[in-house]
Parts: sequence; structure tokens; C-alpha cells
Amino acid sequence: MSKEQLECSFCGRNKAETNLLIAGLDAHICDRCIEQAHGIVIEDSKDEESGVSKADLTLKKPKAIKDFLDQYIIGQEFTKKVMSVAVYNHYKRLLQPSSDDDIEIQKSNIMMVGQTGTGKTLIAKTVAKMLNVPLAIVDATVLTEAGYVGEDVESILTRLLQAADYNLEKAQTGIVFIDEIDKIARKSDNPSITRDVSGEGVQQGLLKLLEGTVVNVPPKGGRKHPDQKFIEVNTENILFIAGGAFDGIEKVIRKRLNMQAVGYAAIKSNDLVADQENILQYIIPKDIKDFGMIPEIIGRLPVLTHMNPLDANTLRAILTEPKNAIIKQYEKLFEMDGISFTITEGALDYIVQKAIEYKLGARGLRSLCEAILTDAMFDMPGGEEKEFKVTKHYAESKLDKSGIQKLKAVS
Ligand code: ADP
Repeated sequence: MSKEQLECSFCGRNKAETNLLIAGLDAHICDRCIEQAHGIVIEDSKDEESGVSKADLTLKKPKAIKDFLDQYIIGQEFTKKVMSVAVYNHYKRLLQPSSDDDIEIQKSNIMMVGQTGTGKTLIAKTVAKMLNVPLAIVDATVLTEAGYVGEDVESILTRLLQAADYNLEKAQTGIVFIDEIDKIARKSDNPSITRDVSGEGVQQGLLKLLEGTVVNVPPKGGRKHPDQKFIEVNTENILFIAGGAFDGIEKVIRKRLNMQAVGYAAIKSNDLVADQENILQYIIPKDIKDFGMIPEIIGRLPVLTHMNPLDANTLRAILTEPKNAIIKQYEKLFEMDGISFTITEGALDYIVQKAIEYKLGARGLRSLCEAILTDAMFDMPGGEEKEFKVTKHYAESKLDKSGIQKLKAVS
């Protein structure tokens, strides 16, 4: 065939009529036909995806779930165990064919109580990653009762739909992490005196999502798109995980346990008995109710667990041990420039000490590392030096110079 006679084997256009003609073994295809074929492939894979998502869920046994969590989350043994069981039961429930024995397994929605930066979001993210299900992380503080400025509770499901690329079936087996759930607590546990209507209203709004119902969800969220069509989302099989710091709940627990409040001086002198150090471990649903959550919400989040505060050893381990530990990430970044990066034990201990000193918790570890390493990450790539060792002395000098004042301001 001469060059002029070449034509697309699919639509018959000759070469001159196309922008591009690609040759195969015995055939040719033009740019338009490629586009069209691509469209068909996309449509087809969409149909397939929506049909298989349940079968896609490979359910690990609780021990295997915990093993997976162990790779990413340091400590928090109790919560990891409780989560493994709850997640296992939840997905077992939804994978089970309906039986006729009338035993309906209820949802195992989870409530995690613990200081900020102790790994609540990380656990939710890791569970979603393991199960390969979509995850929406929402902040309860932005939620308001319908009709008020802010986001309706339905917006939570809009986020989940977005996280699932609008694949409804995937979204319906996804996970929603509601952060700062304590911020929608009633301000007083006596509803008749200072009734905090908006907080309680949001709690009421959340109820129906948590228990499992069909909700009309605006796909783009918000009230800015009044003419959008609603998508019906069934929340029956969505796993809800709520997290909150519940600042001050220790007081409620102590009161219940009839314990003396610990004075500031005692907290400073690190020699507290183990029980006093981690009061949260004694939390029971009643404490959450006394804090201002309505009983119905507590009932819909039946798995209650607490996060332990991060001590120096845990912070130290977080720096180097998790699968994607901060230090491992820096090693990789330097390695990409052919630089071998090492950091001494002394420097690591120093970073931990500063994170504690400035009450920065685990989140602060990253900012401290950035403050210490930014100069090197700026200067070294492309340079002669191929070895970079961070000592305590080096870390100190960099922190003194730069970040520490800023970091203090954040804390
Ligand atoms: P929370 O949701 O409780 O406020 P996050 O899960 O957002 O806290 O934790 C902030 C960061 O701190 C995480 O991204 C992670 O890097 C680190 N982190 C916190 N706790 C742990 C932990 N137990 N194990 C490993 N990393 C942790």
C-alpha cells in the first residue's frame, strides 16, 4: 500500500483526513477511533467496578488486621486490638449473605477518645488502606443543623462519594472518620439550663446516618448547586469512626472514680503512678454522656476505645519504626540525590526531647525535622558532598537558628 492510500482500518478515513494514523501489524487506527475506543474502555471498566466492589473486599482475620496496623502505628495496643475486631465484625456483617434466623448483626461504629496527635486519624486511614475502601475524613466542627450557615450532615456522604470517585457501591461500603466529635457536645450536661441547641442538633442529624438509612445526597455538596440531582446513599454498611480529644473528660472520669484531681505540680514531677498518668483508660460510655453527647449517639457508636498519650519512647519509635516513618522518608529523599543520610541516636533523642518540651506531640516531630534539615535539603542536591550525618550538635545549631521560636509559637 502506498503512503497516500493508507487508511484507518476502523472508520476508513484515509491518512490525509486524520491527525494521526498509527500502524499495527496488519491494520491502522486513527486518532478519532482511538479516542472513541478509549471512551468505551472507560465506560466498560466503570460498569465492572460498580458490580464487583463487595467481592473485592478481602477480609483479613482480626490478628492479620492488627499485624497490618502494627506496621504503621506505634503503641496503642488496646485500640489496635479493639479496632481489628470491630472492623472484622463490620465487614463480616456486610459480606454475610442474609440468613433467615432473624439475628441481625448490628453495626460496630467506633468512638475513639484521645489527645490530638495520638494517631486517631492515622488508624482510620490505615484501616481504609488495608481494606482498600474509600475514606472520608470530616471535621464535626463545620457541621451544622440544616438551615444554618455551615455544612449539613449530608455533606459527609458527599465527601465519601467523592473519595469513591462517585462509585456508589464503593461509597456504601466505605469508612467515614468524623474528627472532633467532642466539639458538638452539649455545653452542659443539664439540658434544661444552658441548652446548646446547635451542638445537639448536629448530634441529632448524625444519628440517622450512623444507624443506617437512605439519605439524599447532593453529589457536589453544599447549597451552591441547588439544581443538582440527588444521589441516594444507603449508610447501612458504612463504617463510622468518630474521634475526639474530649478535653476535660479526665475530670469526669476522676469524679466518677472518686479520685482526687491531680495538681499541676504533681503532673510536672513525672513520678505519677501509672493509673493516674492515663486516666482515659477507665473511660466508659457514661463519661461521654456526662461530657455532653446524647445517649442515642453513644448507642450508635458502641465500640468505645481510648488512645494513650505518647511518651518519649513512643515518639522515638514513631520517628524511625513505622513503614513510612519520618526518618525513612528523609533517607529516601536524600537517596534520590545520591546522598547517604544518617542521623545519630543522640540527634533523634534530642528531637524527641524538643517535641515533648514544646508539647508538639507526634505532629511536631515532622516540623522539627523540617527545621533541622531544610538547609541541607536546599544546599546539598547537585553538590559534591555525598554523605550527610546529622548529630545532636548539628540538630541543636539548626534549631537554635531557625525553627524553634516559630514552633514555640505554634504550641
Ligand atoms: P489525631 O487524629 O489523633 O489528632 P493523627 O492521626 O493525625 O492524630 O496523628 C498525627 C501524625 O502523628 C500522624 O500522621 C503520624 O505521623 C503521627 N502519629 C501519631 N500517633 C502515631 C502512632 N501511634 N504511630 C505512628 N505515628 C503516629
